[in-house]
Amino acid sequence: MPRGFVVRSLASPHTEREETAMHDHPIHDHPMHDHRKLGRELGLFDTDPLIGSGLPYWLPDGAVIRHTLEEYIRDAERRAGYRHVYSPVLGKRELYEISGHWSHYSDDMFPPMDLGGEQVVLRPSLCPHHALIYRSRSHSYRELPLRVAELGGMYRSELSGVLGGLTRVRAIQLNDAHIFCTLDQVAAEAAGALEMIGRAYAALGIRPVRHRLSLPGAGGKYVAAPEMWRRATAMLTDVLDRSGLPYEAVEGEAAFYGPKIDVQIADGAGREATLSTVQVDFHQPEQFDLHYIGPDGGRHRPVMVHRSIIGSVERAVAHLIEVYGGAFPAWLAPTQLVVLPVTEAELPRAEALVRRCAELGLRAEVSGPEHGSLGARVRAARLAPYQAVIGAKEAAGDEVALRLRDGRALDAMPAAEALARIADLVAARTTALWEPAVQRA
Ligand SMILES: [Zn+2]
Repeated sequence: MPRGFVVRSLASPHTEREETAMHDHPIHDHPMHDHRKLGRELGLFDTDPLIGSGLPYWLPDGAVIRHTLEEYIRDAERRAGYRHVYSPVLGKRELYEISGHWSHYSDDMFPPMDLGGEQVVLRPSLCPHHALIYRSRSHSYRELPLRVAELGGMYRSELSGVLGGLTRVRAIQLNDAHIFCTLDQVAAEAAGALEMIGRAYAALGIRPVRHRLSLPGAGGKYVAAPEMWRRATAMLTDVLDRSGLPYEAVEGEAAFYGPKIDVQIADGAGREATLSTVQVDFHQPEQFDLHYIGPDGGRHRPVMVHRSIIGSVERAVAHLIEVYGGAFPAWLAPTQLVVLPVTEAELPRAEALVRRCAELGLRAEVSGPEHGSLGARVRAARLAPYQAVIGAKEAAGDEVALRLRDGRALDAMPAAEALARIADLVAARTTALWEPAVQRA
């Protein structure tokens, strides 16, 4: 890839800039895979010209990864005090005129649809809906910070010529949240979001290439309010300084309504994209006339902190495919355990083991002798984190001989013990296959 190849940041919910590749060399110390090729080979997703480019569909194994990722995020958000909502993917044009998207962002939006004299558009972001959800009830300062989260659809009118795979899509499922808070709470909320991002990256095995403080550039695409920009930038700078994370400030990468912290990832060619983001926004609370009742009984303006932990599920899964080449951590793997009966005689035991896995919430399947020699079946199942070989001896003793994806072959152990151990590792959402030992729940 030539230096300066222009890549668009898709996953960042509030990014509207082209991004330039910054790396001459791949930053990962292992080769990264092309998620488009591998995603099709592994049966994770695909596209159909009749659905259209930039509109991939998810096959069952891809849907398992996506669902697992979404559940991880919802669980992490629940633990962090977020409340989940659902909101529609359409809104009236007027909504985006108020939010500022219409004047600053309409190049990336689908054209409006006329419906009985009204114009509705596919939403380019979730913020306006969440602002209206906040506004629908009165709020006391005691309720703040109010953290509203949604894994919701949004749309971007990408040109067909630049689409491919899961990274440049027209329909985006975004891990989004908006925290409505007082000015005093902004720093702690932004820092908390950065910590959530760090924990998610550890669980997923994602390494950021850098943290970026994204500032406005020249030109009229940013809302004109110098004092607002100065304050929001000072807050995010302070959060980054306190975090101890190295970062660089880059002009021209802010959202139209405010500066942001972007967590950048890169693909095998070194092309950079934003996966996660934390943003401070004084603009939309003003535009939507949001308020809360303060301790003094008066009306006060909240601040909106926009944040996304894994960005869009499309880009997150694309990146995971590229990082792991299909050998996903056990908790994400479409098939976690492949059960290998040595002969037909052990087939009933193998099928019973798969049923026990299902009861434990584990994803297992049998690969029987009809699929070839044991050696061939072991090779065919090489992407599965665990293989359970069942010969005559294991069948008789209700045992399994586990083979781990990294090549380790364990001594036969009681089947119940093996499944409980795998279930614990999966529940811990660790990238470790067997060690370090995890605590039993
Ligand atoms: Zn937002």
